[in-house]
This record gives sequence, structure tokens and C-alpha cells, in this order.
Amino acid sequence: MHYLCRMLTVAEIIEQKLFSRENLITLLHADGVDGLLMLKKAGELKLQTIGNTVHFRGLIELSNFCEKDCLYCGIRRSNNKIERYNLTDEEVLEAAQFASQEKYGSIVIQSGEVTNEAFVTRIERLITQIKSSNDNKLGITLSLGEQTEAVYKRWFAAGAHRYLLRIESSNPELYRKLHPEDGHHLFEQRLDALKLIRKTGYQTGSGVMIGTPMQTTEDLANDLLFFKDFDIDMVGMGPFIEHDDTPFRIPANEGLSLSDRFNLSLKMVAILRLMMPDINIAATTALQAIDPLGREKAVKAGANIIMPNITPGRYRNHYRLYNNKPCTDEEPEQCQCCLDARLSLADCRIGYGEWGDSLHFIQKKESSFEQM
Ligand code: SAM
Repeated sequence: MHYLCRMLTVAEIIEQKLFSRENLITLLHADGVDGLLMLKKAGELKLQTIGNTVHFRGLIELSNFCEKDCLYCGIRRSNNKIERYNLTDEEVLEAAQFASQEKYGSIVIQSGEVTNEAFVTRIERLITQIKSSNDNKLGITLSLGEQTEAVYKRWFAAGAHRYLLRIESSNPELYRKLHPEDGHHLFEQRLDALKLIRKTGYQTGSGVMIGTPMQTTEDLANDLLFFKDFDIDMVGMGPFIEHDDTPFRIPANEGLSLSDRFNLSLKMVAILRLMMPDINIAATTALQAIDPLGREKAVKAGANIIMPNITPGRYRNHYRLYNNKPCTDEEPEQCQCCLDARLSLADCRIGYGEWGDSLHFIQKKESSFEQM
């Protein structure tokens, strides 16, 4: 007797939680009613697992100096059309104070990649100062690129407890195409850095860009499997958007449109939520660059973290990673107002004053204690 092997439907894959590579590709292609069902199911699963709270991380873009030359990024070393800046220590501390007053609960310190000792010491000192000036009330996430184990340890000891390092693509071949082959942009090195971050004890975050040239749906399915296999605690992923002063442009009529990249990003958020119900997932700013309500839509589809920009307004134009980066002409106070209004649309509670740690990380830690 012959049995006909049929592909599972979107509803069956979700119902039975069968997240094989092949099924993930089916989900990534889901459109119309199927697509809407998937976003709805992911939103519902989030509510059941971690509730309707959205946590804020005030984003401080410390500096746009960068030793790396990623082909797609507006602050890449070779872009000599931007003005380079460094926030002063006072400006960083004021921004942290603003986050504290607004009861954001946490900040993210992000910067281009710098590895010299002066930078490392400065970050260490800033973490210590922020922690002591806020009586340890403000959680600190770092997003400062690839560093040595010793550096990760120093910053962890100073008080930072979460670290974001996007793998950008889990496909080493695609990674090589997105980065110059100069010996400083190695996939293996980035993966090792991510492992060191986890080993140090940070809640570990990663992510990918969605819709880059040469990326396939299978690549994205593999990215989702990568997060699951790595047992990641937090993810921030969003659409790739061109920057005019970088070499990495999609020729007109080639590749995905911005709206396709946006829709694919929402699907990635929803599928990841279905696969990993208790991790933290950020609704990234790049979504808002394409759709003014992009982050709110991502929250409905399963995201639970938003990073309002609290960098002093005069620097924001210089931390332009891609075209049309939103809020570059706003001061932190203005950003806060627009966020409050928009989030109310998505029926969520804002976790003011809470760190909003990854439930996945907390439960992993608890179960490892129980086994001791
Ligand atoms: N230096 C740190 C690092 O490498 O992790 C943090 C800064 S880096 C500019 C932050 C993220 O911006 C990158 O991980 C990348 O995914 C994202 N990014 C850069 N250029 C982008 C673009 N053109 N479109 C979308 N995202 C972009």
C-alpha cells in the first residue's frame, strides 16, 4: 500500500509544535488567513506564558566610533561621511538618570565596537557609577560587540547582567558575504564571543537581520533553529535596511521590498515566540523605520521588549545605522510620550521600574540550582 506524504498545514504545525526546518519554511511562507492565524497564536502564547507586560530598556548610543567595517552598517569604520562622537561620562550618567526617573527599569549601553583598554576601563567605571547612583535599581544590558573573556568578566563584575551580540546570520557563508574578508570579521569569532558571554553568566541575547541580499528562507529557518539550539535568553532581530553610504545596497527591483522585509520580520518574531515561549524578544527600532506602528505590531505578534532611545538628541543623527532611522530629531522626553501613546494601542501593561529579566534565563538558573 502507498501512503501519500502530505505537508502539514500552518495550524497543524503550530498545534503540534513541530518546528522542523521544513515546517519552519512553511510557516515563513504563510500568508493571508494562515499568516494572521500564526501572528494571533503567537500573541496568545505570549499572554499565557509571560503575560501582557512590555519592558522598556532605555537605549544609550554611547559612541559611533567602530573598529569593524560591516558592509551594511552606517557607522562602519570606512564611512568617512559621518561625524564621529563619544558621549561624555556626564551625558551617559544623565541619560541613565533620566531612565531611572522615568522608571524604565533598565538601560542598554550600545556602541560601535572598540576594544582598547581605555574604552574597557571607561565602561567598567560607568557601569559602577550607574549602579551606585541608582542604588542598583537600574538593570544594565550591554551591546558593545566582540570582546575578550576577561573584558566580559570585568563588565559583569561591575554590574552589567545582560549582553546582546547579534550573530547577524547563522549561515557562515552568508556571514562572510555580509562582512569584509579582512581577518577581523570571522563568523567563528562571533560565535565564540557569544559562547563566552553566556559562560560569563550574562543573560545572553542575539539576533539576525532579515531580508539581506542573498539570504534565503532556509537561512531564516536555520536562524530560528540556531536560537533554539543555542538556548538563547533574548533575541532582537529586525529588517535589513539600506544605508546610502555603505557598499551594501540592493539594486532596484532585486531582493525583497521593504514591506516584504517588514512582514517577514513580524513572522520571525511570531514563530520564535511559538518555538521559545518564555524568552525576551525585542520589537526593534528598524521595524518602526518601515512602519510607524511597527514595534506595536511586533508586540502583538509576540515581542515583549521595547528600547526607547534616550541618547541626547544632538547625537542621534550620527548613530544612523540605516536610512530613515526614526526619532533622530527627538529628545528623550518626546520619545517617551509617543511610546506611551502607541503602546496603549497594543493593550499592554508597561513594567515600570522592573528589570524584566528573561523568564527563560531565570527558569534555567532555578533548575540548575535544584540539580545541585
Ligand atoms: N557594535 C555592536 C555589535 O556589533 O554588536 C553594537 C552596535 S551594531 C551597530 C548594532 C546592530 O545594528 C547590528 O548588530 C546590526 O544587526 C544592526 N544594523 C547595522 N546596520 C544595519 C542595517 N543597515 N539594517 C538593519 N540593521 C542594521
